[in-house]
Amino acid sequence: MSLEILAKISYIGIYIFAFLCGAVIGSFLNVCILRLPLGESLVKKNSHCMTCGAEIKRYDLIPIVSWIILRGKCRNCGAKISPRYMIVESLTAVLFTLTFIKYDISDYGFVFPMLLCFFLAAVIVVAFEDLDTKTMSISVLLWAGAFAVLELLNAEFLVNTAYIRSMTGVTFTDNIIGLFAVSVPLLLIGFVITPLVYVYFLSEDHKERRKLQRRLRAELAPFDESRVTAALKEVNERIEARGAIYGFGMGDVVLMGAAGLMLGYKAALTAAFIGIVLGAVYGIFLKVKTKDDDGNSESNVFAFGPFLCIGIAAAVFIGNSLWDAYFSLLR
Ligand SMILES: [Zn+2]
Repeated sequence: MSLEILAKISYIGIYIFAFLCGAVIGSFLNVCILRLPLGESLVKKNSHCMTCGAEIKRYDLIPIVSWIILRGKCRNCGAKISPRYMIVESLTAVLFTLTFIKYDISDYGFVFPMLLCFFLAAVIVVAFEDLDTKTMSISVLLWAGAFAVLELLNAEFLVNTAYIRSMTGVTFTDNIIGLFAVSVPLLLIGFVITPLVYVYFLSEDHKERRKLQRRLRAELAPFDESRVTAALKEVNERIEARGAIYGFGMGDVVLMGAAGLMLGYKAALTAAFIGIVLGAVYGIFLKVKTKDDDGNSESNVFAFGPFLCIGIAAAVFIGNSLWDAYFSLLR
């Protein structure tokens, strides 16, 4: 057998191994997504059917395969099992495999793509957490940050630094700038500029409320204090129903900081751009849809995090090349 064929076989072996690891880790990520927001232990309890409560047998817990064999139904009661579990497992498996294809171990060593996989795993967890609960676990965000720091140390000290840097085209300075490139603007927009704009330009509601308060007091108070309270409560609820006016929070800031440190500022800015475009498209879709359903549109607030996560995942694979392609077009 020629050396070339042998090399090919070993590569296929690595890809299969990455896929299997991804599927198994994806299965653990499902547990994280489900239990972390509830504050439950990740290791103690066994998995149960959400409908009948029957413990799921070990042989029915094979990632991806079990869901397909059972055709998405509980073996005990036949209740539908969300395809979400299978999707998260497949997604993790595919992303792990793509990482090892893109970041070839003969060029990057084993640690570089492995840390990138762990980072992507954390991104998957916060994406689905944010989708479900509009919050992200700070512990998972810190893990993402920790993997980014380890990756930086790995690229800087542990292996052939100059070679990895020349392969990725991302310098140490790029990584450090990346830490702030998106996170700081997000922080400023979300927690400084938006509140200021709100206070100075959008506080009409609150002025209206104060006026109404005075009027109600004058008109109703002589008769019935409880009716005043009830009327005021209604106005307050109407203001609150409009919800937050910006769709992102501290989780997104930390996430983009970690992503920038991991991938460099070019990829982080590309990720933010992709995330904002996708989020805007979804926002418009949501507005059109709620208007169609009925006149009084409900809260249009949606989690922005999942879109940023899609942007980050895309940036891992094509972030730097997209950036370079765009700026070579400008030249
Ligand atoms: Zn069941």
